[in-house]
Amino acid sequence: MSESPEQLSHRLDGRVALITGGARGQGAAHAFRLATEGATVYIADVLDDDGHRTAEELQAKGLDVTYLHLDVTAVADWETVRDTISAAHRRLDILVNNAGIVHVTPIAEETPQAWSKVLEVNLTGAFLGLHTMIPLLRRGTRPAVVNTSSIFGPSGAIGYAAYSASKAGMLGLTRTAALELADDGIRVNALVPGGVATPLNANEPGTGVVPETPMGRRADPTELAAAVAFLVSDDASFVTGTELVVDGGFRAR
Ligand code: NAD
Repeated sequence: MSESPEQLSHRLDGRVALITGGARGQGAAHAFRLATEGATVYIADVLDDDGHRTAEELQAKGLDVTYLHLDVTAVADWETVRDTISAAHRRLDILVNNAGIVHVTPIAEETPQAWSKVLEVNLTGAFLGLHTMIPLLRRGTRPAVVNTSSIFGPSGAIGYAAYSASKAGMLGLTRTAALELADDGIRVNALVPGGVATPLNANEPGTGVVPETPMGRRADPTELAAAVAFLVSDDASFVTGTELVVDGGFRAR
């Protein structure tokens, strides 16, 4: 399912991209895809060893990928990343708010601390990303933002109250940002993945959402990366404020 650099177009030549949670999983797949399509990519994460390793692996393939430390809940980290990218490029063209954590507990047993942590990383992290990067995006070339939601955003899921609320919030943030930023020429869309084979769900009980997925499997991260590449490219030039569902048919039920 992964495509070689020769098979892909150069839709993103010259673009500057920032992908949060880019050390592994979908974020790393997005980095490979966007860089292969020509972008200069910054991946940012709290997993510094994984992040450096991913960047080095992609550099070894001839891709322009740099790792930066970023805790998406820390305003000071966002400002440092903004200043680093601003010093190098004076602008940002693509922001992918992909960082996320999952936590499974029934509401009756949930602690306020665990609830807040999930909301802080998954939703406030994306808000901080937009808030901090809007000045650079306003100077960007046909700029675009992708916020990663989940099929548990539009749907409920037993045990996933905090996660589901954070991912539903991501859809509201996306729509509002699209409305507020349309005049600036900044498009903002949500990616709505179904089950994806990444470390996030490695400890999920059983096969997770696979039984409810008509296609009968989890996605490969490259299948989500292809959707992100479309959303941030000029092929999606009239697409904003909406959701791209990539779920093997989960929501068709
Ligand atoms: P993953 O766990 O491999 O990747 C998530 C990344 O986010 C990790 O590298 C992690 O270190 C990073 N991260 C966590 N907290 C952070 C913080 N405070 N600051 C910066 N980075 C942080 O899982 P993934 O599947 O690649 O997840 C990517 C996104 O996709 C997440 O938002 C997740 O909720 C969403 N998603 C995943 C699935 C799935 O089945 N895997 C389904 C729907 C949506």
